[in-house]
Amino acid sequence: MPGMTFAVVNPATEETIAQLDEAGVEETDTAVARATEAFPAWRAVAPLDRARLLRRLATLVEEHAEELARIESQNVGKPIGGARAEVAMVAQVFHFYAGAVDKHHGQTIPVAGGVDMTFREPLGVVGLIVPWNFPLNISSWKLGPALACGNTVVLKPAELTPLSALRLAELVLQAGIPEGVVNVVTGPGRVVGQRLVEHHDIAKIGFTGSTEVGRSVMQGAAGTIKRVTLELGGKSANVIFADADLEQAAASAPYAVFDNAGQDCCARSRILVERSVYDRFVELLVGATRKVMVGDPQDEASEMGPLISAQHREKVASFVDGQPLFRGDVPDGPGFWFPCTLVEASNDDRVAREEVFGPVAALIPFADEEEAIRVANDTPYGLSGSIWTENGARALRVARALESGVISVNSNTSVRPSTPFGGFKQSGFGRELGMYALDGYSELKNVFMATS
Ligand code: NDP
Repeated sequence: MPGMTFAVVNPATEETIAQLDEAGVEETDTAVARATEAFPAWRAVAPLDRARLLRRLATLVEEHAEELARIESQNVGKPIGGARAEVAMVAQVFHFYAGAVDKHHGQTIPVAGGVDMTFREPLGVVGLIVPWNFPLNISSWKLGPALACGNTVVLKPAELTPLSALRLAELVLQAGIPEGVVNVVTGPGRVVGQRLVEHHDIAKIGFTGSTEVGRSVMQGAAGTIKRVTLELGGKSANVIFADADLEQAAASAPYAVFDNAGQDCCARSRILVERSVYDRFVELLVGATRKVMVGDPQDEASEMGPLISAQHREKVASFVDGQPLFRGDVPDGPGFWFPCTLVEASNDDRVAREEVFGPVAALIPFADEEEAIRVANDTPYGLSGSIWTENGARALRVARALESGVISVNSNTSVRPSTPFGGFKQSGFGRELGMYALDGYSELKNVFMATS
């Protein structure tokens, strides 16, 4: 919007770190027009050349890793160590999709009277709407496959955290990717995001964010029958069986929910523990949570930073009433700090039903395997989850029974560049990462050629 600006704030200090022009409908339309113009030439780039350009982008991300990690750490309040790991993943993702360009191909299908073949065609201009919790990472998960398939892009970062996307857009140009292929528009979701969703020249929306906005994206996309990929909220279970390595499960459980200050759609924020080992596990978990280093994100030793905003801190606080089982410490002074918090709950409590998106974990006991599966699945979400057991058959049985897109056994990790990521139920649909993401950024065309 001409003349309008907005402030970008460091959530650990509450200081303004940038003042940016706020885009509106007009600027969004201009970006879409630029992407539309750039599309024919970009789709025509030979696969190996497109791969080379993506590879160069990956290398530039590596070369600027420390700078990008500092930007992300200051804008999101992430501990610098975690920010470095995220930037490393961004480079890996671009390397992966550089390698994928010429491996995403069609088939020939035996038919009567001729030859039948399929082609993977780019969609055109895609709109990518990205949240504030992992701004650069989630951008790369969408940009990598979109560009590999030959689409051009309008990327809308969250207004709270636009800085790393703006720097990435400069590296895109430096890599030799032509002007207009990647366009970043910074403005409010209800204006810029909404415009992308409804725009006639946008073929697809790749969205990560809340289930509520995801629903409105789906509704808005209906007008133009746009393709959508939705990666929404989660309320994932970390299921601890009595036969697990309890020490290991308890030592890693805090990081499964307090990492990124709990602002993670994969946060294992319901910790389900078999009743026979409940007391012992709680004792180990409290000990492990006490050790989480909460503090200045620029400090190398920090493991958890502040929440993203004062408004979000208010929302997170509303989930904790009464005396929790455990509440950690936070630094004094400015910053949107919230302590690591453990509460005992039933699966019907609000803290166990809604996505808190903060460092609050609900402990829920269960009697046996059947009850564990029932409680874990008793949620509208289905994004991720963990199973801790030394019994391999049980691990596989429960993994198959959980209504979740991403499960880990004796681990709490969820994302890798080469493996599919996405949700069941109201956690969304479509898959990011791996070769699977390419399906969401291309159309399958069938061509029959008569030979008789
Ligand atoms: P939103 O869903 O509002 O934001 C996600 C992205 O969508 C942002 O870029 C936002 O832009 C944009 N957006 C907002 N409104 C619209 C719209 N009407 N049309 C198109 N795009 C829009 O999430 P919040 O930031 O409000 O977070 C709220 C809750 O959502 C969190 O507490 C958490 O529970 C969940 N969440 C889940 C995430 C996940 O990874 N699955 C990520 C983030 C949040 P802008 O912010 O600039 O307005």
